[in-house]
Amino acid sequence: MRPTGKLHLGNYMGALANWVKLQDSAQYECYFFIADVHALTTDYADTSMIAPNTLEVALDFLATGLDPEHTTIFIQSHVKQHFELPIYLGMITPLGWLERVPSYKEMQENLTNKDLTTYGFLGYPVLMASDILLYQPEFVPVGRDQQAHVELTREVARRFNQFYKPAVAGNLDGQDVLPEPKVLLTPSPKLPGTDGRKMSKSYGNTILMTDPEPVVRQKLKTMVTDPARIRRSDPGDPDKCPVGDLHKVFSTPETLAKVYDGCRSAGIGCIECKSWAANAVVQVLEPIQARRTGYSDAQVKEILKSGSVRASARAEQTMQEVRAAMQLTSAGEDSY
Ligand code: SF4
Repeated sequence: MRPTGKLHLGNYMGALANWVKLQDSAQYECYFFIADVHALTTDYADTSMIAPNTLEVALDFLATGLDPEHTTIFIQSHVKQHFELPIYLGMITPLGWLERVPSYKEMQENLTNKDLTTYGFLGYPVLMASDILLYQPEFVPVGRDQQAHVELTREVARRFNQFYKPAVAGNLDGQDVLPEPKVLLTPSPKLPGTDGRKMSKSYGNTILMTDPEPVVRQKLKTMVTDPARIRRSDPGDPDKCPVGDLHKVFSTPETLAKVYDGCRSAGIGCIECKSWAANAVVQVLEPIQARRTGYSDAQVKEILKSGSVRASARAEQTMQEVRAAMQLTSAGEDSY
């Protein structure tokens, strides 16, 4: 997760809620990090917000229920192996692979106020592949829109494994040094922002996970509705209404049935319907916000510190295999 500031309901439903489920299933050993180095690929000219935003995102992680006792939570730049593996993988990644990543052209066209013709921005997918492969994971939990990135990671791993064979004592069974991770598709339901477009910080249409109840209610009041419902007496269709989409994600089946019925028969007004949606959102946010207040900044920093130590130890295990497979000398050895 990039440190873009306080997270919103779209981040919650698209990622965090799934991550907590994965953690709680006890089926997986999970690593989640705040990608401050990734932020540099686009925000290199003004880095002033990266550190404060990192802390906010960490607080949102913990508030959602990620448990540092069971899950490794850390900051990318605190684990130095995240700087070493991209250099090695960068040596073997053909330029063409990077230039054809859809987000490369897209972001250059959309973020016209930033100069993205940099080496760092082009190499972003290599950085991301390294972030994944450092932990030799079996799965990467992503939504459908991120699948292409994992596919590129698999290609980079395949190329590495073709060039370099395992050479460490611990890896005697001939397994690839960088196993190709599989996509673990996580559900990311349609979550519109207050203007009906996808909820996104760059559109300014978000409901934050930290928004207090009155703010949530106020934002919901201004939310766009089914354009066909101009007067109170006009019937509407929740399937064509962003508020309807919110109900589908957050409301109980009973409330959802009342929304469909009342909207299609013009039996309810949009104001009433929006207040029901606000009730449902507030109910989801309340425990998250309560948990957030339980953490001091000092505690969060401590959690991130020990997470980095844990992540670093795991990443170093991989790096030892990588260096050995590449026949690089290690510090302290006289083997060159
Ligand atoms: S009643 Fe609800 S679902 Fe129907 S148009 Fe109004 S806000 Fe949307």
